[in-house]
Amino acid sequence: MLIAGGAVVRLNDTARGEGIIVAQQHRAYDPVRTVPTLILRNDDYGRVERLLADGEDVKMEFHIVNHVYPEGKTSYNVIADIPGTDKADEIVMLGGHLDSWHSATGATDNAIGSAIMMEAARLIQALGLQPRRTVRVALWSGEEQGLLGSLAYVKQHFGTAENPRPEFSKLDCYFNVDTGTGRIRGAGIFGPPEAAAGLRPVLARFTDWGVFGVSASTSRVIAGTDHTSFNNAGLPGVGFAQDPIEYNSMTHHTNLDTYERVIPDDVHKAAAIVAAAVWHVANRDEMIPRFTKETMPAAPAAAQ
Ligand SMILES: [Zn+2]
Repeated sequence: MLIAGGAVVRLNDTARGEGIIVAQQHRAYDPVRTVPTLILRNDDYGRVERLLADGEDVKMEFHIVNHVYPEGKTSYNVIADIPGTDKADEIVMLGGHLDSWHSATGATDNAIGSAIMMEAARLIQALGLQPRRTVRVALWSGEEQGLLGSLAYVKQHFGTAENPRPEFSKLDCYFNVDTGTGRIRGAGIFGPPEAAAGLRPVLARFTDWGVFGVSASTSRVIAGTDHTSFNNAGLPGVGFAQDPIEYNSMTHHTNLDTYERVIPDDVHKAAAIVAAAVWHVANRDEMIPRFTKETMPAAPAAAQ
């Protein structure tokens, strides 16, 4: 409609106070089908709106230089292993997404989740520990465009419960951090109650840091972040519950998502908690209990 009407620019209201800008994408990803879109601060947008409502002729001047980078069409996940020993063919994964939006550096969404996972792996390495199972860190690409990196990885390596690849039975569980800088308070795992019971003992060591419990989930819905790519396939994905801090009100996808919003003490503790959880799972005699063919919840219709 905008193109047919001859619009040269579209202005969106960021609809937040305090100078916050929420800038994401146009889903078409095609300059032929879209016009350049600018996000105005709520108070600037409001002034334009009021002037127009008063019948004023509002003139605005823009200098927009956009580049399309066809060579950037392919993006990549970053994968690294700590090799296992007697159970090296079984894998414990931990990760978060590395991509972020452009109006800030993406410190809380999700540089800090990536950093926590790298630090957890570094802690295991620095202690000179050799896990029984292989520990694999994954920093996903394209999460913000729809979990593209993790969905592709799960499809390529594991398949689904209904159509498994050989590695499906070898993935023990996958841990994900992607909810900002806030302290870890607990976890949710896709699986039967026994799966949550398998993780509870290790998280219970951190109750004096305010970590409380593990819950089990039966949902295979693809939701806001990468462990749901695993859940959707029927694999044990683990998402950590975190203090919200300013995530939803201030930093998530905004121009204020910068390093200054990170709380060092909380993320240091997060790395220690994740390292302990990964280490626990990597060395148990048995893998974390999972749904069987008979007990596996049905996948959402669209994903089957
Ligand atoms: Zn995120």
